[in-house]
Amino acid sequence: MLRQVELVERVLSYDPQADEDLLNRAYIFTVKTHGSQTRASGDPYFSHPIEVAGILTELKLDTATIITALLHDTIEDTVATKEEIEKIFGTEISVLVDGVTKLSQLELQSDRTKQAENFSKLLVAMSNDIRVLLVKLADRLHNMRTLHFIKKPEKRVRIATETMEIYAPLAERIGIQSFRDELEDLAFVELNNEARKSILRRLDYLRAEGEDLVSDIVQNLKNDLSEAGFQADVAGREKRPYSIWRKMEKNNVAFEQLSDIIAFRVIVFTVEQCYHVLGNLHAKYAMVPGRFKDYISTPKRNNYRSLHTTIIGPERQRIEVQIRTREMHETNEFGVAAHWQYKQQIGAGDLVKEGQQYRWLRELLEILEEASDPDEFLEHTKLNMYQDQVFCFSPKGDLISLPAGSSPVDFAYAVHTRVGDTCVGSKINGRMAPLRTVLRNGDQVEILRSKNQTPSPTWESFVVSGKARSAIRRFIRHQQRDQYVELGRSIAEKAFRTDGKPFTEKALAPVLKVWGLESVEDIYYSLGDGTHTGRQLVEIVFPGEKKTEQKENIVPINKPKPAKGKKSDHAVPIRGLIPGMAMHLAGCCHPLPGDRIVGIVTTGKGVTIHTIHCDTLEQFAEVPERWLDVSWDQDNQDNDLLVGRMTVVMANEAGALSSVTSTIAANNGNINNLLISHRSEDFFEMRIDVQVRDVKHLTNIMAALRADPVISSVERATN
Ligand code: MN
Repeated sequence: MLRQVELVERVLSYDPQADEDLLNRAYIFTVKTHGSQTRASGDPYFSHPIEVAGILTELKLDTATIITALLHDTIEDTVATKEEIEKIFGTEISVLVDGVTKLSQLELQSDRTKQAENFSKLLVAMSNDIRVLLVKLADRLHNMRTLHFIKKPEKRVRIATETMEIYAPLAERIGIQSFRDELEDLAFVELNNEARKSILRRLDYLRAEGEDLVSDIVQNLKNDLSEAGFQADVAGREKRPYSIWRKMEKNNVAFEQLSDIIAFRVIVFTVEQCYHVLGNLHAKYAMVPGRFKDYISTPKRNNYRSLHTTIIGPERQRIEVQIRTREMHETNEFGVAAHWQYKQQIGAGDLVKEGQQYRWLRELLEILEEASDPDEFLEHTKLNMYQDQVFCFSPKGDLISLPAGSSPVDFAYAVHTRVGDTCVGSKINGRMAPLRTVLRNGDQVEILRSKNQTPSPTWESFVVSGKARSAIRRFIRHQQRDQYVELGRSIAEKAFRTDGKPFTEKALAPVLKVWGLESVEDIYYSLGDGTHTGRQLVEIVFPGEKKTEQKENIVPINKPKPAKGKKSDHAVPIRGLIPGMAMHLAGCCHPLPGDRIVGIVTTGKGVTIHTIHCDTLEQFAEVPERWLDVSWDQDNQDNDLLVGRMTVVMANEAGALSSVTSTIAANNGNINNLLISHRSEDFFEMRIDVQVRDVKHLTNIMAALRADPVISSVERATN
């Protein structure tokens, strides 16, 4: 463990202006607050934050980051609070420590790593300051270095898997190659030690066989380059076991010779020299086609810059050579951290330094941003990375990414269209929440479903994801179409009957041509939505025939024909309608047989039936000619089930919802739609749409619900 003096000296060695006093206080603070806590290794707990701080001094990070590392576990694991830290160490540090704490809490929540990509995006989204991420990575690195102390094998495997899938790629993205290599190698030990061992054995063998080969090649290359007048560093670097393994897996190849596992590196001073060295090597040695890569003119997404080429080298071996400048090399190894130091060296004075920091941060965000796929890249605006996304957990710990502003309905559709279609309610972080609640990063969302549920048109007003929106629209379109088709069919049948003709679909063939339609269903639809009338249909099917007198044909709109007492043959249970005109029940008041109703004529849409008390009717007060006097056909026994809407206020307690649904089912009602419109600590208010025969049926259900102790009130919804 680093002693206090050593740590402070390390920081001062690269930053003479560092706040020595504050560093000392942080060191003492972490030792004191962690007190007698111990690690799995038996070491005092505070050795961990101190080592993490030590790791970050290798990246030469600023004092605030080093102090954050020292304090990173104090909020989570000790009595220390954010307020206390803010008081002693200031706002900047307390915000950073709080940021790391939040990431650690997220980690605890997610015990699954299969959505590693989303999880790492979540980490990035939640790290407002990149230094939070750097501390988190160093924290993980130290935990991996001490992983073998953990007793439970399944816990070790979980942590190693997470490291391999989330933290190593994250380190790669921010370009900290040294972190990535070590994280991968430590995880490799845990996850596939046999493979690792066999690679190490093979490496030993190749090394022994070609002991002098590498140094010969290095020497030869050095000579070549100095003859050509270059001052260059040349070194052979053995590849990491895991990167060899990855290559073997990916390309399905074995590694055979030493040159497969050694990369030769040439480090020069300027970019021009890089290309000159390259030209020189290509002139002297045969170049292996297809292996040359220019990451200087086109850097990798994490800003890695270098020239790569493979040549048949000095010892007739095929070798890979990487050519780069010293600065590129630093950036490649230490990523943004090196980038930052470099900028800081340029900057002088606090104001400039701040500006530099900002630029550094912005550049980093751009790097990270480019790491996402091209579609996302287009969607995201700079500096707002992932801010237009929200990441939520399923109860199983799956991570789902959604557009910002998403609701539980968006979440449900993101899981599966079926889940979206049948969703009736949601729990967020274990509590019932309205379906229109805006989700936040890290929320755990549970979707309550009901077989009988269908998408509600009202969802359209608050969903934001394309998937949810299109699924709801598609459903509504289909549903409307189905209704119109059904209605159109009965209009056609009736028109035939009125004319005294037997109805056959075959007879409709000539209509297709005249109306320019493709199927019989289209004909029904055009009748149902009021585009054509039953009369027009009959005239096409039986042209030139003398029309029989229409008894109930035209009803003057402002002087409706009173309904007759005899059993009507209307397919829809409403009297007083104009035959051939489409009818539908208003979605605002959900009229039911037994209600006093009125029809409103809407051009192109037919007649809409409202209850006499519906608020919507006020809009039509000035146009009495559009009012149609209609009534229910009480004799009609085979009514389709209609939808009644109730507003229910119930206790917010476990089992309350299922009690309501079973009461409704016990009274032969089908829940068609259920929306929690308001929720408080103790109660929530729901709008429930139930399929019922008539008003009496609905009244029965409401009475049964009122008898239920969890229900505080039930009313018929008026709008
Ligand atoms: Mn830690």
